[in-house]
Amino acid sequence: KELLKMDSEVKVPDMAVGKPILYSKLCEVFEALEKESGRLKCIEIASEMFSHVLDTSENQEDQIRNLVEVNYLTINRVCPDYEGLELGLGETLLMKALATGTGRSMQQLKKDLGEYGDIGLVAQKSRSKQSLMFKPQPLTVSQVFKNLKEIASMSGASSQNKKIAMINRMLTSCDSREAKFLMRSLEGTLRIQFAEKSVVVALAKALVEHEMKQRGQKVTPAILSEAEEQMKEAFSQTPNYELIIESAIKYGTLKLMDHCTLKPGIPLKPMLAKPTKSITEILNQFENQEFTCEYKYDGERAQVHLLPDRTLRVYSRSSENMTQRYPDLIPVMEELQRLNPEVKSFILDCECVAWDKKQEKILPFQILSTRKRKDVKEEDITVQVCLFAFDILLYNGESLLQKSLKERRQYMYDNLKVIPGKFRFSEKLDSSDLDVITKFLDQSVKDSCEGLMIKTLNGTNSLYEPSKRSRNWLKLKKDYLEGVGDSLDLVVIGAYVGKGKRTGGYGGFLLASYNPDSGEFEAICKIGTGFSEEMLASLFEKLKPTQLDEPKASFVYDKTNPRAAPDIWFEPTTLFEVKVADFTESPLYKCGYSFLGDGSKGVSLRFPRFVRIRDDKSVEDATTSEQIVEMYEKQAHLS
Ligand code: ATP
Repeated sequence: KELLKMDSEVKVPDMAVGKPILYSKLCEVFEALEKESGRLKCIEIASEMFSHVLDTSENQEDQIRNLVEVNYLTINRVCPDYEGLELGLGETLLMKALATGTGRSMQQLKKDLGEYGDIGLVAQKSRSKQSLMFKPQPLTVSQVFKNLKEIASMSGASSQNKKIAMINRMLTSCDSREAKFLMRSLEGTLRIQFAEKSVVVALAKALVEHEMKQRGQKVTPAILSEAEEQMKEAFSQTPNYELIIESAIKYGTLKLMDHCTLKPGIPLKPMLAKPTKSITEILNQFENQEFTCEYKYDGERAQVHLLPDRTLRVYSRSSENMTQRYPDLIPVMEELQRLNPEVKSFILDCECVAWDKKQEKILPFQILSTRKRKDVKEEDITVQVCLFAFDILLYNGESLLQKSLKERRQYMYDNLKVIPGKFRFSEKLDSSDLDVITKFLDQSVKDSCEGLMIKTLNGTNSLYEPSKRSRNWLKLKKDYLEGVGDSLDLVVIGAYVGKGKRTGGYGGFLLASYNPDSGEFEAICKIGTGFSEEMLASLFEKLKPTQLDEPKASFVYDKTNPRAAPDIWFEPTTLFEVKVADFTESPLYKCGYSFLGDGSKGVSLRFPRFVRIRDDKSVEDATTSEQIVEMYEKQAHLS
């Protein structure tokens, strides 16, 4: 446990008891985090800051509000992920606001931006040059949070001027350091190396220490470790900081799991699977265990919530609210309730698949991806979908996470009815006979599926594990039977200038894996095959606006070797699904370097091929460096 590894003391600025928290104090902490690259040290700094907030708030209500606001500003968000409000304003708007707010010309600002490559630094410089007639009222954390939330909620053409006016008002009260972080927040990246996983750990530490201090009790390693566990589990079941912080303060961090369990309307982080290469590997792994095989449908993961007030919410694999995309599922939910009036609320784990109504069969993923993402009107829908439910996590208010898969499945079969062409359960086979499974795998492919999902059925190994890539769920894709075992989802961090037929566009790309512990993107390979000319043209359109003047601090590549850098760097926004022949160790690439030997080498891919863009995943959902090292080591072991 990370909390147990900490020992040193960190100083964060004093805050006045009972007074609003000044934004300048928070920016001092941001600066400390910006300078620090060690993960544990960053957790310690953040946890000290959270403790200060708790100590200096006057009552419980203030503690909750202050901690929620400070926490959101630290992770640079204004609400839970799934509510979909995001910062990330365009450069032109921010530059306009900066020009009016600081009295500098656009030309000067653009020149500075070219030089620094960071609008925060441009703001810092601009503000430090400005002479002020009188000292403005200082900004508070509450004001900044409220304003950022309002700015993120504004939409439409007329909102531009309102946003600029609000930014100006804040800039007037900023010193140069505050201006730097305010602009970075608005741009959508604070440029501090502090991943969300670490924030959760820092919160656990601050909250449990505060609680123990109040009670005059000592914080033992066991208590710290339990607090960290509870906080992580609470976060994967209810990824909502307001709820978690409020429950921890009211009922105690060690009791979080009595209060922060599943709720319809709050998406939990989905359970994920590990790849396998063969049926024999599965039989070996699940020896002496009861397991089931299900079709692995090729569509879009859909976590379907029916709320007690009968509203429907559909969340994607990365907890994005996709309800607007599927108005045609509303009548399906109504029908499920009509068929069984006992159904009041549920959370189902499903795959939403494009469906050919006439021929009554599954259509490929590519057809589903042609469906509009937002503001879909039911009458305009041309691509029909069918939901294939494979798990139920909550039924009529009761969490089923602690039940075995066998029991959960029975809940589905007992309470929900199949609606042909609209709602079905995933095809399943409960057998451990190699020949029978092989036939089922072949059949799944004939039925337009990707292969099979194999899951333990009984006992504690078959509980639903939110957010975990678990050994209790294995995926066997038809392609794995050759190749390395799985396709990878990698982040595009750079590109190479196109030559020959590709002149004027990009000729290839530099890809990276993601390391959720450090928040780093670790270069893994160059890719140039598998792209159609149309795809390259649309990638150029998509990626050009994300070009950077210099690599981000979070990019890990061999800086001593000019061959390791691409011609162009990108803001990490896009994932490529990539197929690969096998893995190899390389000094040029740094993927997984911290897991391998002395860190001088990383894992790279041989013969990578582009399959498709993964729009349904965010960059934090990329294949992790640790997963790749695991696959590399498995390959070494097999050969
Ligand atoms: P992939 O790229 O293979 O879809 P992933 O990273 O999105 O993988 P994994 O957990 O590795 O997710 O693989 C399981 C995925 O397969 C789920 O996210 C889900 O979208 C899909 N799926 C299709 N059928 C099933 C099923 N019967 N059970 C579980 N997941 C299924």
